[in-house]
Amino acid sequence: MPWENPDHPPFIEFRNVTKKFGDFTAVKNLSLKIYEKEFFALLGGSGCGKTTLMRMLAGFETPTSGQIFLDGQDLAGIPPYRRPSNMMFQSYALFPHMSVEKNIAFGLKQDKMPASEVEARVSEMLKLTKLEQFAKRKPHQLSGGQRQRVALARSLAKRPKVLLLDEPLGALDRKLREETQFELMNLQEELKMTFLIVTHDQEEAMTVADRIAVMDKGELIQVATPAEIYEAPNCKFVADFIGDVNLIEAKVTEKTDTLTRMTSVVDSFAIECDQATDAGVGETVWYAIRPEKVRIAEGNAEPGGVNQIGGVVWDIAYLGDVSIIHAKVGEDDHDTLRSTFANVSRIVEKPITWDDNVVLTFDRDAGVILR
Ligand code: ATP
Repeated sequence: MPWENPDHPPFIEFRNVTKKFGDFTAVKNLSLKIYEKEFFALLGGSGCGKTTLMRMLAGFETPTSGQIFLDGQDLAGIPPYRRPSNMMFQSYALFPHMSVEKNIAFGLKQDKMPASEVEARVSEMLKLTKLEQFAKRKPHQLSGGQRQRVALARSLAKRPKVLLLDEPLGALDRKLREETQFELMNLQEELKMTFLIVTHDQEEAMTVADRIAVMDKGELIQVATPAEIYEAPNCKFVADFIGDVNLIEAKVTEKTDTLTRMTSVVDSFAIECDQATDAGVGETVWYAIRPEKVRIAEGNAEPGGVNQIGGVVWDIAYLGDVSIIHAKVGEDDHDTLRSTFANVSRIVEKPITWDDNVVLTFDRDAGVILR
């Protein structure tokens, strides 16, 4: 992969970029490399600076300091309409009085493209986004999903080098959103273009992106593939932000180069993990373990062993494909561990019910130690 090779030239590069609005720093000395044909996601909560970062690339905001390069070119001083990028807005910003085909043709005509070429390009875009039968309709005669596709067709019509997508699916319902995520991925593969998406939805970022940058307070917290971010978050913030996780505060009791032993602070159960830590013995860390890595032991497992915790079933959420069990493991009502299991046959074979005494177990390589 290009990002694994330090000599591979990036397609987009933010170099020590800072953006201040008055006294407030929205983006803090941020450096990031994005590669050609990547589907890259900027992910973070509201106000973390992700849209500001994208708007600086598009040219709608100017960095307070630092540089942005696209395909080797320093973008400083280049106005948005002369940049080889195009941005699709959440609101779609379609012209209400123009038909679908006229909306798509608008930017091309402004660029003084000959009429025959405009016609050919518009029909190519209509086909690509499966909008042929709606060419003559006005935006108000379309569904939300169709409007979204018109906006996409219009953004792609000029064949930009980079498509910037600012929360592009925010207005769609869940099912349509999921369908459109796959359409976007197919489109990106077909066009072999670089796509940069801004989203606060971690599932969306995980679904579409080759790599994700998790942002918080104007800074990059982790940049990695969806699997790396999920399996090996680099801090408590990322573990908590991406997916569901049990975060257990634990004190290091013993450590080697390959193994760390801990005791949970609240309930004193023993945890063993196949991971070294730079925390010293006696220091407190976070042990993060995904619910699907916590199993409910079968047979006569006894609580109290290493990575074996006794609990009482407190809550069961049946979600169809999986169930999530909240087991109370300590005195406090909020002191629970979550275990997720696939419903394939388990629920039929051995139903688990409220107030059952269970033993929760997990493997030594199941969780990660975070600071
Ligand atoms: P959201 O998902 O809510 O849009 P975001 O991560 O995209 O969040 P940004 O829009 O980049 O966040 O904004 C980052 C911070 O900068 C916010 O605190 C916002 O209020 C502030 N900000 C953004 N634009 C301006 C502006 N033009 N003037 C002053 N402050 C701004």
